[in-house]
Amino acid sequence: MMKAIMATKRILITGGAGFLGSHLCDRLIADGHDVLCVDNFFTGSKDNIRHLLSHPRFELLRHDVTFPLYVEVDQIYNLACPASPVHYQHDPVQTTKTSVHGAINMLGLAKRTRARIFQASTSEVYGDPEVHPQPESYWGRVNPIGPRSCYDEGKRCAETLFFDYHRQHRLEIKVVRIFNTYGPRMHPNDGRVVSNFIVQALKGEDITIYGDGQQTRSFCYVDDMIEGFVRMMHSPADFTGPVNLGNPGEFTMLELAEKVLKIVGGKSKLSFHPLPVDDPKQRQPDIRLAKEKLGWEPKVCLEDGLKETVAYFRRVLER
Ligand code: NAD
Ligand code: UDP
Ligand code: UDP
Repeated sequence: MMKAIMATKRILITGGAGFLGSHLCDRLIADGHDVLCVDNFFTGSKDNIRHLLSHPRFELLRHDVTFPLYVEVDQIYNLACPASPVHYQHDPVQTTKTSVHGAINMLGLAKRTRARIFQASTSEVYGDPEVHPQPESYWGRVNPIGPRSCYDEGKRCAETLFFDYHRQHRLEIKVVRIFNTYGPRMHPNDGRVVSNFIVQALKGEDITIYGDGQQTRSFCYVDDMIEGFVRMMHSPADFTGPVNLGNPGEFTMLELAEKVLKIVGGKSKLSFHPLPVDDPKQRQPDIRLAKEKLGWEPKVCLEDGLKETVAYFRRVLER
């Protein structure tokens, strides 16, 4: 008991009402910490954290990270940013502002409070990669002026800021590059492939395959990802990252559709639609660094994770 009290930290999570952020709130509350969840509810929802609102160690603040924030904390997890292409392309200027101004404000806060700060970066920094699988040393192939650029370049600039604050102001930074992650509390209309396919299958609608469905992604279950976040935050100070977190299992979108249909059953058929601009053809994380430095690797296979996610969406659609 005494140990838990002494280890309690004041932890700020930006984007804490979103998909990954809300699972991180759950985890850090369960670990005994004081959690301050900051969110402007652009894509996140109070429903994701409603069960925590009356918890004595949980606090919620409606705030946009593009504006300064003065609070006293020991650690910061910076997750605020819409993550699905449909959402981040809705207001691309705001997306870049959130990544860049948001990072500057949170780094300024970390500089003043000397808090350790974690950045949720992304596999999108690799763009449409010519190196496969992608190691952290790969610099990427990113279009700077396309419809995905607000997100990809915003996240790349945020990484630059993190490393410059580290070198210039000696901040303790922790940068992870997250590969496609799925699970309960994904937004049903966020347009991402896992939520789209499951919702379509549950409603008996056609499964929308973009392009020929031969493009690949690697899908990590949310519980595995959150474990990686916490291990990274607790790793030795000299390990800044960037480190890839993701599940190396690689599947085509046709294979994913087949797996979802097998779990859900029903009569959905496949319908083929144009491939979005700059859609990466392949993606698979090289996670050797995470294994070596964090002793981390995913445990949940795609079938098991999809079953949990299908069960969640069934409940949401019944509401
Ligand atoms: P999400 O959209 O569910 O969560 C993002 C949260 O940030 C939402 O609650 C949203 O309301 C909030 N937000 C957005 N702009 C904000 C602002 N200006 N001020 C305050 N809050 C703001 O997405 P997610 O999947 O939970 O992603 C969380 C983080 O992880 C993001 O930074 C995303 O780029 C990164 N990421 C996620 C994935 C994935 O597959 N889920 C992959 C790579 C990177
Ligand atoms: N900032 C913040 N909270 C703080 C400290 C700073 O939001 O507790 C913001 C502040 O508005 C500033 C930014 O973070 O614009 C960067 O801070 P830094 O100290 O690096 O820059 P400076 O204040 O010198 O411009
Ligand atoms: N995709 C698809 N059907 C959908 C939604 C997405 O075939 O209904 C494809 C999309 O073109 C991409 C892959 O699935 O190749 C993953 O898309 P998502 O938007 O989930 O993530 P990202 O492209 O950012 O990895």
